[in-house]
Amino acid sequence: MTTNWMCAALAVLVWAIFPSAARATCYGPSFPNACTTSDGCPGERNCVGGYPTRCIKDDPTGCPARPPGTNDFWIGLNAPTAEVGILVDGRRSNAEVDDKTYVITPVNATATQALGAMRSSPIGNEVLSFGATRAPTRHSTPWTTTQDTFRQTMENTVRVPVTVWILTANGSFRVQAAQATNTVIQAGALFDQERLGLDFNNIELRDATTHPNRGRFLNVTDANFGTLETQIGHIAGRFNVYWVQAVNGGSGNGLGEVEHGDSVAVGANSAPGLLAHEFGHNLALDHTDGDARFDGTNVMMSAGGTRLFLTEGQAYRAHIRSISAIRSTQVYGLRPAMPIIDSCNIGSTTRTCPKADKRIWADGATWPAN
Ligand SMILES: [Zn+2]
Repeated sequence: MTTNWMCAALAVLVWAIFPSAARATCYGPSFPNACTTSDGCPGERNCVGGYPTRCIKDDPTGCPARPPGTNDFWIGLNAPTAEVGILVDGRRSNAEVDDKTYVITPVNATATQALGAMRSSPIGNEVLSFGATRAPTRHSTPWTTTQDTFRQTMENTVRVPVTVWILTANGSFRVQAAQATNTVIQAGALFDQERLGLDFNNIELRDATTHPNRGRFLNVTDANFGTLETQIGHIAGRFNVYWVQAVNGGSGNGLGEVEHGDSVAVGANSAPGLLAHEFGHNLALDHTDGDARFDGTNVMMSAGGTRLFLTEGQAYRAHIRSISAIRSTQVYGLRPAMPIIDSCNIGSTTRTCPKADKRIWADGATWPAN
C-alpha cells in the first residue's frame, strides 16, 4: 500500500540523517570539542539535542590544502642584535597555542622563526615580541590553513626625558644632583636589562634647595605628595622626580602616581630599584605583594629586598593600559599602533594578555623562564 511504502521511505531517510541515534548521549556544557575529520582536518564537535554532531571542519574550503610538514613563519624586522623572544597565540594540531615561547637569535636585524602548521583560533591569533632596545610589540597574525609568513616590525624602545627637582638641604645641590643622576641612569639601565621598552633620553636637574616652598616637603607623604607639582614645579612631557630628604619618614622610601601620572618622589638615599618601582607606578604596574609568583627581587614588590627584575608579562602591561604614562593621552600618548587592554592587570588570565609572571628569560636563579 502506498501509505506503508511512504513510512518505510521516511524511516530510511531518518536513519540516514541521524545515524548517531545509537551513540551515547552528550551534555552541552562540555562542548564544543576539538576533533579531527576523516580527511585529517581540524574541526569541532558540538552537542545538539543531547547527541554529539559529526566532526565539522573549522575551514571547509581550506583543508586539506597544505602539504604535510609545511611551516608557517613569523619574521621580525628591525630586530636587535641580541636575542628576541616571542609569545605565539593561535591553534595547532587541534590544540590551542597560548603564549608558546620562542627565543630567536636575529641575523641582519631579522628574527625568523618557524612555527609549524598554525591555524586560526577563535580566541586569539597574535605574536608578541620582546628584545633589548625594543618596546614589547603586538603583531596580529591571522593564521590561515595555507602557508603563512608574517613579516612584522618590532618597535623601538620609547624614550622620555626626566627632570629631577633637588629638594635636599641648602648647599647640597652639587652632591645630590650627582647622586640623583646616577640613580636615574641606573634605573634606566635596569629597564633596558629587563626589556621594558622604556628609557630616558635626557636628564635635567633643577635646583630647588632654596625654593621658598621647600620646607613643606621635608617629609613627603600621601598628604602633600599631590601638591609638589603646583608648589615646586612640573614639566609636562617628562618624568618629574622630586628628590627629597624623606618620604614617609625615610630617606630610602618613595611614592609614585598610579594613574595618568608622571611624578615620583624619592628619598635622597633611594636605591635605583626603588626609583624604578615608583616609575613602575606611573606605568600602571600593580604591586606584586603577597603573590607567590614573585619575591623581593621583583621591581614591583612594595617592601622589596633588592629590586632587580621585571617579567615580560609586566613589560607588556606597561605598554597596554590607558592609565600608563606611556599610553595615557593625558601624559605621553606614545605607541598609538598598540591596542589598549585595560583588563590586563596583575591577575588577568585572558588570551589577549600574557600572564603577569610570564618570563621568556629567567629572572635570576629563583625564577626560570616559564
Ligand atoms: Zn609601590
